[in-house]
Amino acid sequence: MRLRNITGSREVIAESPYVVQEAVQLKCASSWNRIFGNENPIHIEIGMGKGQFIHTMAKGHPQVNYVGIEKYSSVLLRAVQKMEEEELSNLKFLRMDAEIVGEVFGPGEVDRIYLNFSDPWPKDRHARRRLPSREFLARYSRILRQGGKLEFKTDNRELFDFALEELGPAGWTLEACTYDLHGDPEMMAGNVTTEYEEKIGRASCRERV
Ligand code: SAM
Repeated sequence: MRLRNITGSREVIAESPYVVQEAVQLKCASSWNRIFGNENPIHIEIGMGKGQFIHTMAKGHPQVNYVGIEKYSSVLLRAVQKMEEEELSNLKFLRMDAEIVGEVFGPGEVDRIYLNFSDPWPKDRHARRRLPSREFLARYSRILRQGGKLEFKTDNRELFDFALEELGPAGWTLEACTYDLHGDPEMMAGNVTTEYEEKIGRASCRERV
């Protein structure tokens, strides 16, 4: 991934009404219903990039509250700009490292987690940084409600195989899986493409757990 530091992006993010700010974040575990002003289910995307997927999902599902999480201000800036063009009341953003996701959402507060084209971190010594690793799955288990789901798609076969191997040790069960997402009508139903997915043309793998 190549990142460009966009001058002023930190300041824009720090002042944006669409971004839940740090001081609030850590206090707000279990108060997302208050932030959204309703009791609707909460779906989150971790590593959302420029936000195409989550903006489209929020627009198509007004009865669901969405929270997009992205580590870098310069990337999140694009999602904020999109919200300025087309504001949605059921979408908020967090600029943070997903490592602290368990401090920002309360136990069982989240209904669904999306991981789309997560960074592969190919070196073994970086395995813990992979978003579908057992360390991250443990964090997700805490915030997901009983019966909650995680959906993961990627074009990286090594990362996908790694994700499948992590499920058992983390105590998760696989509900559905394909190695040819765009050729699988059942798994493609309702698929919303991400920026990355459009750029590469297709996603090869998807799992629902
Ligand atoms: N999901 C988007 C898509 O499919 O177009 C972006 C994919 S991009 C390859 C991965 C994104 O995840 C990057 O924007 C990166 O900054 C973000 N990311 C990676 N690790 C993260 C973490 N620990 N916490 C939050 N964001 C993270």
